Amino acid sequence: TVVTDKAKVSPANAKDRPFPLEWTRNIGIAAHIDAGKTTTTERILFYSGAVHKMGEVHEGTTVTDWMEQERERGITITAAAISCAWNASCGPWKGIKQRINIIDTPGHVDFTAEVERSLRVLDGAVAVFDAVAGVQPQSETVWRQANKYKVPRIAFINKMDRVGADFHRAIDDIRTKLKGNAHALFLPIGKEENFTGLIDLVQMIAYTFEDSNDSLGLVPITGEIPAELLAEAQSYREKLLEAVSDFDDVIAEKYLGGEEISVGEFMLAVRKATISLNFCGVVPGSAFKKKGIQRLLDCVVNYLPSPIDVPPMAGEDSDGKPVEAPVDDKAKLSGLAFKLWNDPFVGKIVFYRVYSGFLPKGMSVYNPRTRRSERVSRLVLMRAMDREEIDKAYCGDICALVGVKDVITGDTLCDEDFDIRLEPPSFPEPVISMS
Ligand code: GDP
Repeated sequence: TVVTDKAKVSPANAKDRPFPLEWTRNIGIAAHIDAGKTTTTERILFYSGAVHKMGEVHEGTTVTDWMEQERERGITITAAAISCAWNASCGPWKGIKQRINIIDTPGHVDFTAEVERSLRVLDGAVAVFDAVAGVQPQSETVWRQANKYKVPRIAFINKMDRVGADFHRAIDDIRTKLKGNAHALFLPIGKEENFTGLIDLVQMIAYTFEDSNDSLGLVPITGEIPAELLAEAQSYREKLLEAVSDFDDVIAEKYLGGEEISVGEFMLAVRKATISLNFCGVVPGSAFKKKGIQRLLDCVVNYLPSPIDVPPMAGEDSDGKPVEAPVDDKAKLSGLAFKLWNDPFVGKIVFYRVYSGFLPKGMSVYNPRTRRSERVSRLVLMRAMDREEIDKAYCGDICALVGVKDVITGDTLCDEDFDIRLEPPSFPEPVISMS
């Protein structure tokens, strides 16, 4: 028998984790200006239930009123990283609360270092397009950068409620202008003012946007596919199956042999295809449709990678030789300071992604640029309307550090014994102020 000496078990033991690493999604929302990035981000935060507590605090106010108040006060919607949680309504993680960290990806293209750094810290992205305007020139830049950093993505065709919206034209645009292997995951039910729901091509069910008693709409209303759309849905399901079977031998064999493919197998095949980077699932919707945004969140959980599904982050040692940051809590700590912020309450905070190891509050982290160590006095998770003090950050997490002063964006902060630099030295950037 193996006797384990409790005292010898490292504090970084995976058992300490509050939840497995595969329950985390670090995502960015990328878009051309005006496509609806801000609105989509806000609604993701609100419709994931983040507003729930707030509804109680501001009794009698609606979600929208609250959002307007918060906008006036300029709260954390613009933070470098905001955490929310989502219980997917279907798929392998159904009913299990997933942590979704939304990393702000600057929409402008001039600050390339900043854009590229934000693309490095995320594992997947939602590319937002305007259903009326389709693919616009700036979307091409963002798309190319996401290709360069190998960021798997889902396309969200927003504003399906607008006059002139065209879902299929937008998919064609992604194929022709961006050379993306784009395939519909859902079909819209109606469009413009009659945009009333979505057909899930994997599950072959319809979701309606109608309201239920549940004010947050966390329980989706599902039903049968409208008869007049059934043939179209079947044909698009077939196209989707064919597309993903290129990435999954089991599915390919079953598909060619005309065998039944279960919803679970189909979902895993879509996930595999997305993570391969050679496939992009497309979701129609509108940032204004609560239940549409919630289906987009289901897709984020089911199809975008967790930190263990992507290759480990590569860096260099002090001799310039390549080193990897193992995706493991038990490895030595390494992580990237990707944004600085002046918080009116706590002062300078450093947004940080842990790539390997784990970081307990109070630990000293080494900065290879300054060759000095500094103590992390507090660790904070930023949320839409509050911040949570945490004791530890684990491999794959994104959090904010307080107490580390001599740091610039792009700095590696790691264990003193770990000779790694995650990003080559770059120019200092200004500290962004919250006010
Ligand atoms: P961003 O520049 O990409 O951040 O875009 P915004 O989120 O600021 O949205 C640009 C404009 O489009 C705003 O006036 C939004 O109210 C509007 N908008 C965003 N999403 C939708 C949508 O789904 N439907 C409609 N009709 N308008 C939208």
